[in-house]
Amino acid sequence: MELRLHDTLTREKRTFVPLDPKNVRMYVCGPTVYDFAHIGNARPVIVFDVLFRLLRHRYGEANVKYVRNITDVDDKINDRAARDFPGLPLNEAIRKVTEQTGKQFHADVDALGALRPTVEPRATEHIGEMREIIEKLIAGGFAYVAEDHVLFSPQAMNAANAGLPRYGALSNRSLDEMVAGARVDVAPYKKGNTDFVLWKPSKPGEPSWPSPAGIAAQGRPGWHIECSAMAWKHLGEHFDIHGGGIDLVFPHHENEVAQTCCAFHQQRMANYWMHNGFLQVESEKMSKSLGNFITIHELLKDWPGEVLRLNMLKTHYRSPIDWTMKSLEESAKTLDDWYRIAADAVPGEPDASVVEPLLDDLNTPQAIAALHGLRGNDIAGLAGSLRLLGFLAESAAQWERRKQQASGVDAKEVERLIAERTAARGRKDFKESDRIRDLLAAMGVAIKDSKEGTTWEIAR
Ligand code: AMP
Ligand code: ZN
Repeated sequence: MELRLHDTLTREKRTFVPLDPKNVRMYVCGPTVYDFAHIGNARPVIVFDVLFRLLRHRYGEANVKYVRNITDVDDKINDRAARDFPGLPLNEAIRKVTEQTGKQFHADVDALGALRPTVEPRATEHIGEMREIIEKLIAGGFAYVAEDHVLFSPQAMNAANAGLPRYGALSNRSLDEMVAGARVDVAPYKKGNTDFVLWKPSKPGEPSWPSPAGIAAQGRPGWHIECSAMAWKHLGEHFDIHGGGIDLVFPHHENEVAQTCCAFHQQRMANYWMHNGFLQVESEKMSKSLGNFITIHELLKDWPGEVLRLNMLKTHYRSPIDWTMKSLEESAKTLDDWYRIAADAVPGEPDASVVEPLLDDLNTPQAIAALHGLRGNDIAGLAGSLRLLGFLAESAAQWERRKQQASGVDAKEVERLIAERTAARGRKDFKESDRIRDLLAAMGVAIKDSKEGTTWEIAR
């Protein structure tokens, strides 16, 4: 069966044909590391991890290259560094912020069951490539220098029209409308009001590098050029899939396409543009001011990462998702059940009933429905399919132990009470044995008697 992916550029599902099946290449925009990642940031991480796993399943693990960058140069990082480490020189403070936040991001996404990308490039390690692209753009007449800035001109791009895409094609906007709608307070050094920054001068104390185009002042890159440079370095001028959240289509991805295609004189940067829909919390936009801003880190204190993962995948990646407590509780129950029956089973091949919906533009809700279908009749298939989707990283016992720890229930105390109850039943003191059962239930512990003895688990 074919793999079909929805392409934002052509606005349709198309059969996925890799440029080179021995080297399938995907780039996804990663985090700007200045603070804890929120649960919205987890969505592209999980969605594109499922795609990465599916591509590896289909083309072979060694034949898929997944690049997700880390943006470690940004105004928000500078502000955070100045605020958190006022006593340190800014560059040192910035290093501290990006190191801490980068580590935290890894801890978070590892817990979500996301594989590490093949390469995780940092913007600050690719300044040379950025300068090179900028030089090419100036040489081609697509960019110009003004007051120590370098600016890209979308109008020059659309006027050139020589085998290039149209600026605005990805986000389905017309440049004329953008020109008409641009803000009036456009920086005076811009020739056109839709021109965007490729390079800008650094203020004293800010991170800075030698500038391109013979600009004497030291400077730093704009945001969009970073991804063009890192994608080029690790995936080449033209690759298969480029992904990110829907908010990145404009201006970030529109500008990436413009930079890359104009620098390398080509029609396409990526053959498929994929964007995940937005996440909101209990039917409201997540924001710090509304007080419903939840970090992955906070959620992981209450829920195993795989519960967050399942909860995310219950909604198709292109639809908006409403993140609710009720849905999380259901996801936790489902995973408890899967762990109990499939975590220790020998996994079989992922089942076709699960793989086929995934091949249809990552239809994870349908794949999850198929998992429920396998539950009653093919445990090996269920286990193999769950693993393909990035679940069952722990054994059933580890899962249960984690639940016990999270619940605050003292396992030794539970074992002692169960032994007492067994003794009471032995002497036919059912009043006492019922009392202990109720006591355990009140502690959140469910017990089950069988021929082998009494087992227990945390009741959710
Ligand atoms: P940022 O660090 O804000 O650039 O975001 C990193 C990634 O998370 C990007 O791919 C964004 O599109 C994505 N993202 C940010 N907020 C949300 C949200 N509420 N729902 C879904 N994706 C989001
Ligand atoms: Zn990007």
